[in-house]
Amino acid sequence: SWSQPLQSKSNEDQNADFQGGEKIRVLQWNALSQALGTKNDNFVKCPPEALEWKTRRFRMLEEIVLHDADVICLQEVDHFRFFLKSLAPLGYHGHFFPKPDSPCLYLPENTGPDGCAIFYKTKKFDLTKVHNRVIEVWHVESNQVVMCTTLRSRTTGQEVCVATTHLKARNGALLSTLRNEQGKDLIEFMASESRSCGPAGSLPRAVICCGDFNAEPTEPVYQTMTENDLKLQSAYATIDGNEPKYTTWKIREDGEHIQTLDYMFYSEDQLQVNGLLDFPDGEAIGQNRLPSTAFASDHFSLVVDFTMKAHPKKRF
Ligand code: NDP
Ligand code: CA
Repeated sequence: SWSQPLQSKSNEDQNADFQGGEKIRVLQWNALSQALGTKNDNFVKCPPEALEWKTRRFRMLEEIVLHDADVICLQEVDHFRFFLKSLAPLGYHGHFFPKPDSPCLYLPENTGPDGCAIFYKTKKFDLTKVHNRVIEVWHVESNQVVMCTTLRSRTTGQEVCVATTHLKARNGALLSTLRNEQGKDLIEFMASESRSCGPAGSLPRAVICCGDFNAEPTEPVYQTMTENDLKLQSAYATIDGNEPKYTTWKIREDGEHIQTLDYMFYSEDQLQVNGLLDFPDGEAIGQNRLPSTAFASDHFSLVVDFTMKAHPKKRF
């Protein structure tokens, strides 16, 4: 399977405020639900053996384990117990939150609803809070969810809110508007998570909000995520100011879909990007694109190395 070292950012970017701060590696991956992948998606060029659960599950695990992330954020999880049990011996604990009316439930041989999951290394972090939310659009619950974990470093005591989400899929002006409204709800939620329950006078916690946003960078939701009081920036856009050319590459009946839909947004006042995982090129991906026997999902995983600000100034 494909792997590549993390691309390091140049030392010129290193800001003294971040030297000695806690480091945190986060993996973001839409792992492709087994029920959707086999019964719904219709990846016309994907060899059926690439989607066989008996073998695919170990390739999914390999993809997750390979990068040795401190925090693992997944979407389209419909086999949470498999991941929970397999990742436990590697030092991870995790949580799962299903979509209220998951499309998986309407498919034959489903294994329950799909949803978002977060795993973290228990040696590195204590979980101080996990807060799940059904994302609202115009104050009405949608079928999309967000999971936010507040993690406290066991060495520095610093806290970070790591959240993951999977926004409404498919094209069209109405759906683009809907995703934007979901983004607004997400920002409000993250703002309150980053501020809540901290010691009196403490600064808001660092925020990492990642997921499959089902939106190209040109969609309004991207601007909603990056232009707000949380001062979020997209980690993959910090290399040259542009998002990658794709984070998913698949062939459906209507042709090839090469899209950038997955992101890792982070609060740039409190976190610095030190490195990120590159994506394979078209040749390495192969003619039949994703998923394949080399790539277990139709989405690539995003991996980012962050450093937290070393000594956040107290507000008195
Ligand atoms: P979304 O519209 O967000 O998408 C559901 C899944 O479909 C996503 O995981 C998405 O993957 C995938 N998807 C996106 N584009 C395509 C495509 N062109 N072909 C196949 N799959 C695609 O889900 P919602 O939560 O809003 O649920 C809506 C769906 O649930 C309905 O379309 C319906 O099929 C099903 N449903 C059925 C009901 C019933 O039968 N009575 C009732 C309720 C729901 P990705 O994000 O990776 O693109
Ligand atoms: Ca999907």
